[in-house]
Amino acid sequence: MRIRGLHKAFGDLEVLRGIDITVQRGEVVCVIGPSGSGKSTLLRCVNLLEEPTSGTVAVAGTEVTDPDVDIDQVRRRIGMVFQSFNLFPHLTALENLTLAQRRVLRRPKGEAVRVGRANLERVGLSDKEDAYPAQLSGGQQQRVAIARALSMDPELMLFDEPTSALDPELVGDVLAVMRSLAQEGMTMLVVTHEMSFAREVADRVVFMDGGVIVEEGSAERVVGAPRHERTRAFLARVL
Ligand code: ATP
Ligand code: MG
Repeated sequence: MRIRGLHKAFGDLEVLRGIDITVQRGEVVCVIGPSGSGKSTLLRCVNLLEEPTSGTVAVAGTEVTDPDVDIDQVRRRIGMVFQSFNLFPHLTALENLTLAQRRVLRRPKGEAVRVGRANLERVGLSDKEDAYPAQLSGGQQQRVAIARALSMDPELMLFDEPTSALDPELVGDVLAVMRSLAQEGMTMLVVTHEMSFAREVADRVVFMDGGVIVEEGSAERVVGAPRHERTRAFLARVL
């Protein structure tokens, strides 16, 4: 995935002011930064939930910002997991996983169920396929949301603070699923405040503030030995 010169303004408010990020296939890049720095807007520009003001985004060789590109075609190749789980409350875990496969990918039911079950197993929830979201813990719901995204065979997974709405004791299971995805070679762009996850899993950490990248490098370097005062001040608050 390649982001070049990305700008996004809401009216007079310039939220992204020239962002360049490359995530190689199989790489995990973590984005950190204070509230309002533009992290969510960045992810939303990658899958065109927001239209960039200028700049380009390419995913797996396709320029998603090309006006001739079919947005739906692009979105189905990008999995997104949000802070809130956004599961359909009236559908079981397995039904949540098969719906988009059938509607968007037009997979036959048998195949959608097979893929859905394989992904529930991947997130450790094989025994919960018939449970409704309200019958699951927050951490389990988030793992279903991850399994749902994986069921679309994404080329890239975007995570926007996937654990920040969870009770502390539920965070570990979700991070463990993300860690195993990283080990399987999934390409991931992850907004997180979980510095231990970033240190352990990220190939690179990007620190954003005020719509620009202030510094980036290995987690060891950025989190362990930040060069900029703004990075140091941020880390002092979250660590
Ligand atoms: P947080 O850590 O709190 O999630 P963030 O880094 O994800 O913050 P964004 O959600 O990207 O920050 O928001 C960046 C700025 O853009 C904020 O000032 C926000 O108010 C503004 N913003 C985001 N979306 C919109 C919108 N649709 N219309 C107007 N302003 C917006
Ligand atoms: Mg955000």
